[in-house]
Amino acid sequence: MKDLIAVPLAYPEINLANHLNCILYAKLGPADPREPSTAYWQAKMDKWQVTEGEARTRLCMNCAHYDNSKEIMQALPTAPGAQLKASALPVTPKWADIDGMPSAVCTRWAITCSALRTCDDWEAPWEDPDNANVLFVTPEEEDED
Ligand code: SF4
Repeated sequence: MKDLIAVPLAYPEINLANHLNCILYAKLGPADPREPSTAYWQAKMDKWQVTEGEARTRLCMNCAHYDNSKEIMQALPTAPGAQLKASALPVTPKWADIDGMPSAVCTRWAITCSALRTCDDWEAPWEDPDNANVLFVTPEEEDED
């Protein structure tokens, strides 16, 4: 397992620190993905210059940096770093815990990752030739159909 991925899984304190950096520098969120979080998504629309519908579909689960490979999935249930709860983050408002999360590791920020959140560094998986976890057709390919 690559160090960048292994470290947040092994060390809860590093996973927590990297979460805080991602929240601060890349606006990781929203605090509770089950809520409308209108202001949060408006900021993403402005950042990415996309419609609300498109912004709300740019989630960790379909980001190029979302690694839910078999190796990660096997490590998550027992990895000490993966026991970090979203609600334990020292942030305001408090983050909600989501059942079944974390479900992957973010290789950009070296954090355990919830499928339903996002950040400013979201990247389309088809722009990462090494991404074998999520396979999509590109918008251009869709237009060819
Ligand atoms: S880089 Fe991608 S996977 Fe990582 S936190 Fe941001 S949106 Fe999620």
